Amino acid sequence: MTHVTKWSCLLFILLSQCQSNETSRYVFQKDLMYTVFDIVVFSKSPKGEVEKYVNNIWDILDSLEFELSPAEKGVLGRLNQEKIFFKQENPQIFMILSNFITRSKSISQQSQGAFDLTVYPLVRLWKFYQQDDSPILPAHKDILTTLKKVGMEYIYIDHEKIVLNNNVQLDLGAIAKGFAVDRAIQILQSNTNISSGFVNAGGNIRVFGTKPDGTPWRVGIRNPNSGKSTEIISLYDGDAIATSGDYEQYFEWEGKYYHHIFNPKTGYPVTHGLASVSVVLKGDAELTDILATTFLVLGKEKTLEFISSFDKNKDIALFFITRSNTNLLSSHNSLWEQRRKI
Ligand code: AMP
Ligand code: MG
Repeated sequence: MTHVTKWSCLLFILLSQCQSNETSRYVFQKDLMYTVFDIVVFSKSPKGEVEKYVNNIWDILDSLEFELSPAEKGVLGRLNQEKIFFKQENPQIFMILSNFITRSKSISQQSQGAFDLTVYPLVRLWKFYQQDDSPILPAHKDILTTLKKVGMEYIYIDHEKIVLNNNVQLDLGAIAKGFAVDRAIQILQSNTNISSGFVNAGGNIRVFGTKPDGTPWRVGIRNPNSGKSTEIISLYDGDAIATSGDYEQYFEWEGKYYHHIFNPKTGYPVTHGLASVSVVLKGDAELTDILATTFLVLGKEKTLEFISSFDKNKDIALFFITRSNTNLLSSHNSLWEQRRKI
């Protein structure tokens, strides 16, 4: 009856085999944040040394996952229960959360509420991401009741505390992977023995440096129906890409398709036919992650309006895959077109 499919990876990097004699390519992988993380680096150091360094990154990401999970006993889990969190309890996590909240409030305002960190009660009601349960279509009246506990305006923040009013609870599912990618890249770049590489968190990718053969990084975008690569583009030092898709977590019920990205105004998954949107911008996987989710909620037309009034200093390349009956149609903007060239 219900059927859930989880793509562990929306995108995958296609690397040429070409590499210089001294530089080796090392690949590391770990399950984190309900997806698979890949760290791929080029280095002249022996594998053991690089592995030790990457293990240190995994430890940091493990700890962040715990602290930022809405349901664990870490900082976010406690904030969701106790509704207040003081900076002095954990200044480091306070900084991370306050940056998320400030940034999300701004994007929420600019997108007329499409992006909303307080969707957690909806995620729970629909039973997404629950270990012992499968997603369900809730009763309409329960969705309406739960919607009363959703709204970015109920998050209060100042220099020393975060307060959740009106019983809201936070879900960082749309932002945390991008943040984790930025954090991992920052640590990798501080090691002078690592010349270049990329981090991939289930389709949230950021690259750094240049491949040893000097060619650009090449990334494939997944066809939501076949799972094969439908589009390949080039990425350059610092570029980040994120894809949000309606096929990442979904179920079917009485012939209808329901997925995990919600319209915070209705409490239902968005239904305007955008199967996926991919976003590329430089130096900020966290923002790329936020925008991909926001754009999936907005749909193509409103995304193009959003972009026309968004930060003019940011070059944002966009690729849309739209559902039309059983067909998929793709489209992109001019900045994306430039990246199709090698
Ligand atoms: P992503 O895979 O980055 O697009 O994020 C999807 C996840 O973000 C979902 O699984 C939810 O946990 C959460 N989410 C769903 N709808 C929204 C929304 N409208 N705004 C912010 N986060 C959302
Ligand atoms: Mg996202």
